[in-house]
Amino acid sequence: MPLYKRGYGVIMFSKVSKSLLVFSLLLAMKHVHAEQQEEVYPVAIIGGGVGALTSAIYLERAGVHSLVIEGKTPGGAIAQSPNVHNWPGELEIDGMALIEKIRNQAKVNGTNLLDEEVIGVDFSSRPYHITTRFVKNPEKTRTIQATTCIIAMGSTPRMLGVPGESLYWTHGVYSCAVCDGALFKNKKVAVIGGGDSAILEAEYLSKIASEVTIVLRSKNFRTTEVLRKNQILNKPNVRVVYDNKITEVEGDGKKATGLVLKTADGRSSKLAVDGIFLAIGSTPNSQLFKGQLDLDEKGFILLKDQQQTSKPGIFAIGDIVDPIYKQAISAAGDGAKAALQAERYLSAIAPVKESQADSAVALKIADKVSVGLQEITSIDDLNKELMNPTVPIIIDFYSPYCGPCRRLGPILEEKARQYQGQIKFFKVNISELSELATDYNIHGIPTILVFDSQGKQVDRRTGLDEINPLINNLDSLK
Ligand SMILES: Cc1cc2nc3c(=O)[nH]c(=O)nc-3n(C[C@H](O)[C@H](O)[C@H](O)COP(=O)(O)OP(=O)(O)OC[C@H]3O[C@@H](n4cnc5c(N)ncnc54)[C@H](O)[C@@H]3O)c2cc1C
Repeated sequence: MPLYKRGYGVIMFSKVSKSLLVFSLLLAMKHVHAEQQEEVYPVAIIGGGVGALTSAIYLERAGVHSLVIEGKTPGGAIAQSPNVHNWPGELEIDGMALIEKIRNQAKVNGTNLLDEEVIGVDFSSRPYHITTRFVKNPEKTRTIQATTCIIAMGSTPRMLGVPGESLYWTHGVYSCAVCDGALFKNKKVAVIGGGDSAILEAEYLSKIASEVTIVLRSKNFRTTEVLRKNQILNKPNVRVVYDNKITEVEGDGKKATGLVLKTADGRSSKLAVDGIFLAIGSTPNSQLFKGQLDLDEKGFILLKDQQQTSKPGIFAIGDIVDPIYKQAISAAGDGAKAALQAERYLSAIAPVKESQADSAVALKIADKVSVGLQEITSIDDLNKELMNPTVPIIIDFYSPYCGPCRRLGPILEEKARQYQGQIKFFKVNISELSELATDYNIHGIPTILVFDSQGKQVDRRTGLDEINPLINNLDSLK
């Protein structure tokens, strides 16, 4: 995506005529001058967990430079887990080791990791403004500008706030049965809470543990799934303790061993368990976005189209949008989708960016550019070109999401200039003009079709291995 890399004007126009070069340099100087003042990044990713890092990997692989603002807990929530068992490809792995691998992959691919925390955003107009504070030097702040933004700030599990809870966190106290339930095969566990998530956690654990005790503060469940609740309560290994507050998590110094409970009238009792699962909800870390993005009543960012938020170009992923599944792999999946959506968004707005440049300069450049590899924007365009060709025509069917297509593009651009007046070069974005791809039986990209000077198709090549020999021997077409 060279459009979003520095020096775009120079890269794109350096081999054209002298006058164009002057215009290009002017534009490039203008760009550099602007960058010295405030650089605009194509994508800023807020968060340093598994979702954010996956987005960064996808963006870098797609040639879009990304910036990851990691916040106070680089690695995010999964780093807290001493053993992850459900990450594909790893039978068991320490959460910290897993995230270190992912982080390293993002770094090797070229992402820029910032040890900064976001303290304010302004999404009122593009480029978006993100104000950060340096984690190790909180006095220092700065504002980063970005064309798109991926929000991956996770959520914070609600805690009881009782003695022993923090001490035994991840050592007998957890917030995710799917993540840690397997550690309690044939053991006794407690689920804390009376809402939908408590029912789901109890159901999951009832298939693993020998005994599941659901502990409720009140006399009733708050779940909307009454039938499901009744089914679960009818299971022989599930019981409920109503109307009890938890006052302490007890342990042996290494792991939790039970709970101290207290009734409304002050009677205390103890519940011996091996594992304690908090199911009292989580708070999405979305306070910064109130009034800027649509949030639900609990603060989860609402999505409009896949990972797209209520604001174009702002995407959100992982636990900050997901009150239900809250898994590392689902955050990673969201991250991949958001990266591809951001890349598509950047491609779509690129022409707008150019048209915003000095109109006189832009117009002159546009005139000259039409001698290079020209974009076909409608079926009519292509038909017109093929009707009276006068010279051979090469058409490149591509997609902005295809790596080989991106490698081929600049080569064709170069050839188009070299063979100016002898061969015409066009490109067709099949994501935009899928009907043309169907009309011309395009089943893989990049595909190149070659037409002779009478408009008759004489060659078809798919993939770089087939295409390269052809474009290295264009003299044979003249
Ligand atoms: C103890 C524990 C064990 C778990 N075990 C498993 C498991 O075994 N398997 C599984 O699939 N899932 C597990 N999970 C759930 C999993 O970790 C999460 O679903 C996943 O990490 C969510 O990823 P995320 O990218 O959305 O957010 P997170 O991983 O939570 O990352 C949030 C990131 O946002 C950053 N951030 C927050 N505020 C700011 C700010 N203002 N500015 C900049 N950055 C900010 C933080 O620094 C952090 O890096 C576990 C969770 C916990 C807590």
